[in-house]
Amino acid sequence: MGLVIDIPAIQANWKTLAARAGSARAGAVVKADAYGLGAARVAPALYQAGARDFFVALAAEGRAIRPLLAEDARIFVLSGHMEGEDLQGLVPLLNSPEQFFRDRALRPRGAFGIQLDTGMNRLGLEAGEWAAIRAEALAAGPQLVMSHLACADEPDHAANAAQLAAFRQMTDGIAVPRSLAATGGILLGRDYHFDLVRPGVGLYGGEPFIEARPVVTLSLPVVQIRDVRPGESVGYGYSWTATRPSRVATVAAGYADGLTRALMRDGKLRLWAGDRSCPVIGRISMDLITVDVTDMPDPPAALEILNARQGVDAVAACGGTIGYEVLTSLGRRYPRTYL
Ligand SMILES: *Cc1c(COP(=O)(O)O)cnc(C)c1O
Repeated sequence: MGLVIDIPAIQANWKTLAARAGSARAGAVVKADAYGLGAARVAPALYQAGARDFFVALAAEGRAIRPLLAEDARIFVLSGHMEGEDLQGLVPLLNSPEQFFRDRALRPRGAFGIQLDTGMNRLGLEAGEWAAIRAEALAAGPQLVMSHLACADEPDHAANAAQLAAFRQMTDGIAVPRSLAATGGILLGRDYHFDLVRPGVGLYGGEPFIEARPVVTLSLPVVQIRDVRPGESVGYGYSWTATRPSRVATVAAGYADGLTRALMRDGKLRLWAGDRSCPVIGRISMDLITVDVTDMPDPPAALEILNARQGVDAVAACGGTIGYEVLTSLGRRYPRTYL
C-alpha cells in the first residue's frame, strides 16, 4: 500500500548506466529530493553502490545530504555560488564571472567547478566569459568543468553534435576532469562521456533510459465501491455518466498528491490489479479518484497507478508531461516504504 521505492532497483540502474559510460566515472543527480523519491535514502544507497560524485540544484539540498555521506563523497551544486549561501562541504559549479569572483573572494581555497554554456542558454559561462577568466580559473584548480545538453533525449537532434563541438572547443587540452552527459548523453555514446557522467532520471526508472528497472510502485487504497445505474453521473461536474449498470471504486489519492487533473486529458489513465486494469473516470479531485471497476470482479483493497506495467512515463503521457514531473510531483501524504 502507498508508495514503494525500490532502492536495489535504483542501485542496479546506476550500475547499468555506469557500465554504459565506459571508463568515465558515474556520478548521481539527487536534486529535488532525488526526483521526489527521498534524497536522504537514495543518496547513501547510491554511495553504497559506488557513486562518489553527487549533484544537487541548490546548496540547501547539498547541506541536507552532506552529513549522510562519507567525506570522500563530493556534492556539486548546480546553481553555483549564490549570494549569501553557505557552501561548506559543497562544491559549487560557478556559472558566471560574477559567481567566480564572489566565490574566489569568499572561499579562496574552497573546492569549486565551472559550468559552461554550450548552447542551452540556461546556466554557465559563455565562450567569451570563459575565455576572459579561463587562465585565472584553471590556476585556481577547479575539480570539474562541465556543460549540459539540451536535446540529448533526441539522439538525432543537431544540437547534440553542436554542443559537443562547442564543449570540445572550450575545454580541449585542459587538465581538469570534464563532464557533459546526463542520462540522455550517456546513451548517445562514448564521444559524450568525457571523465564524469551525471545520470539522474535514468536512476529512477525514467526515459530516455528505457531499459531502466522500474523503481516506483504506487498503490492507492479503495475507500468504497458503489453501484451506479445507467444515467447516473460520477464526480465533480458530472463529467462521466454510466451507460450501463456499473461498479465504481473510489480510491484515496488526488491532485493534492501530485496526481494532477490534467492526467484525465486523454481518458487513457488506468489503475491496475496485477495484470488487470480498469479506466479512471470522472474528474480527479483533491483527495479522491474514481475508477470504473465494472469489468474487474472482486477488485482488491488497493489499486496501482504506478507499477512495472504503467510507469512514470506512461502516466506522464496521459497528462501531456514527462516522467520527471510525475516523479517530482509524488505527494508527501502516501505512506512510503523503501525496499
Ligand atoms: C537535472 C540535470 C542532470 C540529470 O539529468 P537527467 O536527464 O535526469 O539524467 C544532469 N546535469 C544537469 C546540469 C542537470 O540539471
